Amino acid sequence: MNSRDSFDICVIGAGVIGLAIAYELAKKYKNQDVSIVILERESSFGQHVSSRNSEVIHAGIYYPTGSLKAELCVAGKELLYSHCEQFGIAHQRIGKLIVAKNTESDALAQLKENAIANGVLDLQLLNKVELQKLEPHIEADIALHSPSTGIIDSHSYMQSLLHLAENLGVQFSPYSRVEKIDTDADAFVVHCQLDENRNPERYSFNCRQLINAAGLEAQSIAQSMSAIPKSTIPKLHYCKGDYFDYRRPNPFSHLIYPMPEANTIGLGIHATMDMSSQLKFGPDTEYVEKVDFEIDDNKTKSFAKSISSYFPAIQAADLKPAYSGIRPKLSGLGEAAADFEIQGESVHGLPGLIQLFGMESPGLTASLAIAVYISNRVEL
Ligand SMILES: Cc1cc2nc3c(=O)[nH]c(=O)nc-3n(C[C@H](O)[C@H](O)[C@H](O)COP(=O)(O)OP(=O)(O)OC[C@H]3O[C@@H](n4cnc5c(N)ncnc54)[C@H](O)[C@@H]3O)c2cc1C
Repeated sequence: MNSRDSFDICVIGAGVIGLAIAYELAKKYKNQDVSIVILERESSFGQHVSSRNSEVIHAGIYYPTGSLKAELCVAGKELLYSHCEQFGIAHQRIGKLIVAKNTESDALAQLKENAIANGVLDLQLLNKVELQKLEPHIEADIALHSPSTGIIDSHSYMQSLLHLAENLGVQFSPYSRVEKIDTDADAFVVHCQLDENRNPERYSFNCRQLINAAGLEAQSIAQSMSAIPKSTIPKLHYCKGDYFDYRRPNPFSHLIYPMPEANTIGLGIHATMDMSSQLKFGPDTEYVEKVDFEIDDNKTKSFAKSISSYFPAIQAADLKPAYSGIRPKLSGLGEAAADFEIQGESVHGLPGLIQLFGMESPGLTASLAIAVYISNRVEL
């Protein structure tokens, strides 16, 4: 790219959300001579939050009715299943069981009511006998069965989004770290550091529409824009989640979740599996000060204790550290769960700028619906 190029639309961040947005915008402006670029500081797409998650296609059960999380999850789930079928992305509608004790029956019934209000109409309450038939290794009195919950090969999904976007003319620019954004009369001036580890070079260009989808860095990019009132930038809280692989053969045929944590900080240490049926447990929730993916081996005991509440056969020795992810939360420890925050001109006063903050779970599930939501707000 030469200096002072100009693009119509710039998307910052090639995680699952930035990729979905670029693809949706490329479809919207197909054959209209609209230039779109995705800037990514890493060598490739999806190296951060989008490759450190559970790869679950969520049904939309837990989120408060009317929230963006609820609406975009329920709509995104359907769009995602259709996309997977259309483009041959590996996925499985494996179903999920939220398992509980009799003493939790009111809370479980409430979850079902919340899900219905969100438009999730296929949940079934199971008694102990019905649950035992489905999952004989689980110890619980009752369960909620969600048949529309699934799993996905998220890397293939992201690859498909990039491929489809590039085929529609989107330019993907890896090794391009956005350092600072200025505003000109009718354009944003995006200043980047290119290829910083090999041949560092500074590069700036203009764009009319700017979408900040930088995940854990969305706030720092917003801070670099002097024209934005700083009071509109929400505080970021890192909330780490660790996963442990199960060393033995997978005894389950569904995803197994306990009742969610208070304030739904997390969904509880659950049993999930990837497309090769490797069973893993996690993620837990731990607020941290910095991004660090180290897993404390000593956690095996507390993980085993928590999992034993629904899977009594678990032993700490069956668990081995797998990987961890960091949630970009907008709520701190003890605070009520926050919604996705998608800010346009009405919040920060800058026409042409859309910023996405707090894109934690269910961001993967909701990605295509988020992209439609953004696309409907982009006007050239
Ligand atoms: C532990 C955990 C479990 C989860 N489980 C699920 C789940 O099962 N189902 C589900 O639906 N969702 C889940 N999620 C949520 C989901 O993973 C996220 O919502 C989604 O991946 C966020 O995507 P993103 O594109 O916003 O962020 P990212 O994937 O982090 O992408 C942001 C991109 O911006 C780039 N970037 C940052 N700064 C700059 C810069 N200055 N210049 C250029 N590029 C930059 C980064 O390199 C990165 O590639 C989970 C999340 C976590 C942490």
